[in-house]
Amino acid sequence: MFHTILIANRGEIACRVAATAKRMGVRTVAVYSDADAQAAHVQACDEAVHIGGASVQDSYLQWQRILDAALQTGAQAVHPGYGFLSENADFANACAKAGLVFIGPGVDAIQAMGLKAASKQLMEKAGVPLVPGYHGADQSPALLEKEALRIGYPVLIKASAGGGGKGMRIVQQAADFDEALASCQREAKNSFGDDAVLIEKYVQRPRHIEIQVFGDTHGNVIHLHERDCSVQRRHQKVLEESPAPGLSEDMRQRMGAAAVAAAKAVNYVGAGTVEFIVEQSERGMDFFFMEMNTRLQVEHPVTEAVTGLDLVEWQLRIASGEPLPLTQAQVTVNGHAIEARICAETPDNDFLPAIGQLQVMRSPHASHFTVSPVRLDSGVREGDSISPYYDSMIAKLIVHGDTREQALARLDQALAQLHIVGVQNNVAFVRHVIRTPSFTQANLDTALIEREKALLFHQQTLSNQHAVASAMAALLRAETPEHSGWIDPWSARSKWLMQGVSNRSFEFTVNGSAIKVVLISHVRGGMRLRIADVEADFSWQDHAGELQLHWHDQDWRCHVYANAHDWHVFANTGYSSLTRVDPLAYTAPDASAGGKLTAPMPGKLLAFNVSVGDSVVAGQALAVMEAMKMEHTVAAPGKGTVAELLYAPGDQVEEGAPLLRLSVD
Ligand code: ADP
Ligand code: ADP
Ligand code: MG
Repeated sequence: MFHTILIANRGEIACRVAATAKRMGVRTVAVYSDADAQAAHVQACDEAVHIGGASVQDSYLQWQRILDAALQTGAQAVHPGYGFLSENADFANACAKAGLVFIGPGVDAIQAMGLKAASKQLMEKAGVPLVPGYHGADQSPALLEKEALRIGYPVLIKASAGGGGKGMRIVQQAADFDEALASCQREAKNSFGDDAVLIEKYVQRPRHIEIQVFGDTHGNVIHLHERDCSVQRRHQKVLEESPAPGLSEDMRQRMGAAAVAAAKAVNYVGAGTVEFIVEQSERGMDFFFMEMNTRLQVEHPVTEAVTGLDLVEWQLRIASGEPLPLTQAQVTVNGHAIEARICAETPDNDFLPAIGQLQVMRSPHASHFTVSPVRLDSGVREGDSISPYYDSMIAKLIVHGDTREQALARLDQALAQLHIVGVQNNVAFVRHVIRTPSFTQANLDTALIEREKALLFHQQTLSNQHAVASAMAALLRAETPEHSGWIDPWSARSKWLMQGVSNRSFEFTVNGSAIKVVLISHVRGGMRLRIADVEADFSWQDHAGELQLHWHDQDWRCHVYANAHDWHVFANTGYSSLTRVDPLAYTAPDASAGGKLTAPMPGKLLAFNVSVGDSVVAGQALAVMEAMKMEHTVAAPGKGTVAELLYAPGDQVEEGAPLLRLSVD
């Protein structure tokens, strides 16, 4: 076994690798950018080396600096994590040349599977079923369009070098092909430096089912069963589970065998995932090879939960030359596991990534990086920030139960107990998703979110009255001297009057409505609370930070976090945020009025879709930006004429920076 490894990654996955290494007595070296000097992964490792500026180009992709750091700290091996350099054959090769073990497959296997088009040619030879499509070298638009017609619409255009759901475009009809191709190629070129595409038949009601494989340097390859990752948004996974519900034993075995064949075809060593797309029709289910990811996968904890194995430990053992710890027959699956990806994003605004400081991040009773009924893997702590430089994942919540039903109940509970304030996130959204009929009945396919959208977006889960009453209780708790915790008293008003009744009035804005509240305190015990025009008895108690409330003949429990202006109520039934209306506050006039269009977040301007002098209509796409690894379209708020373009493609822009000027006719 190695005595020292360098972890060429950041965030949650770097912490994950460090946890296993520590348990195995292996010393760890972290690398970090300017933005990550205080990051959790730096503290999780025994030593850390600074490798450059905040941008990934200037740090986590600077592989020469990473190699230097490894050599200088005496590391024998490099764990690439996922993303960044994990599937970079040049880097794996450079590690070997420098005498370092790359903890992953051989350079040939990475290369063979690195391009989706080339890997499909290889899989065809190995007898692995493929999605009907075109994966040839000729990239002339006319030929591609002809191929799309031959395959039959709808088709999917993919970046051959792609990953992370990027570049992919569904094309419903021939008329839309040109534009989709151009936009796919642009995103591919920009993200992967390679604009080659392939075309696939767009599979109907598809499920994404993948097989975890492992190979060793002695020629053994086995699989650790499947994960269903069908619940996606923007072609990126949101929920992953194992076993895949409703998969017949026969199909499970055939998929496992196909995955092992795929891995053997490239002499695979280490952890890998063979991803299949599964078509569901009246005839039953068919599976087709989509791609192979030659690395550890984000959702590997799901497999760890059902097999009881530590996949990072397996990676380290295999990379140091040991044979696979188990044979195929010794691998067993126990119970059911589900992972939810907790991301900094705004589901109600097309999942736009969000940034900001995690003012509160309180989690359920969970283990970290080890198998247990509730596990929370994260690379950030309360107080840390989600920055625009890296991807938007805050944490992964993984639950395990004897049955899917039990795992689901645990997930629902754990999500209710995961309290995040300061960064918009998908916790409440994921909770809605797992409660939909489609998900509870395991009616899974990649359109689940779209199909259930009426239950998922713009949902109010806690009534305004309960939210307001909860905030009032927190406010009173903050005024009591013995309270301790996060809440700042927002004002030091006088305590109760000594006789009669004291009335205090407040106003909150919640879900867009202003609600007037009157607190009526009687000297001899008891309070009444009037919310809008409903008045009722009100009482509250604090149980170690959790508030227990009674109002209007209802009882509930919640946690409330507040700062000077905002109140965040997390009840078991749902979440709500409120703002206290301060009658003295001055609201600045909206500076964006007058036809300026601004960047939704810091990022890179990729292209303008319009030129000066063009007339545009409301909703028309004007510019495309990239931020946090995703493309975002900036659309016209109304009719107008483009007066000026304020940046050039390729420019880095700040959040809120005007990108162009529209004159309103
Ligand atoms: P995995 O295949 O491991 O489940 P994904 O398919 O979601 O992970 O992402 C593929 C790659 O893209 C991974 O290497 C991951 O690091 C990276 N990635 C993670 N999050 C994002 C994101 N929000 N946008 C783009 N790429 C991402
Ligand atoms: P990436 O490298 O970005 O992960 P994949 O090829 O793995 O790209 O595809 C990502 C997702 O896109 C899949 O999980 C699936 O939801 C969807 N997808 C991919 N290929 C098809 C297809 N041929 N038909 C329908 N959906 C597809
Ligand atoms: Mg994929």
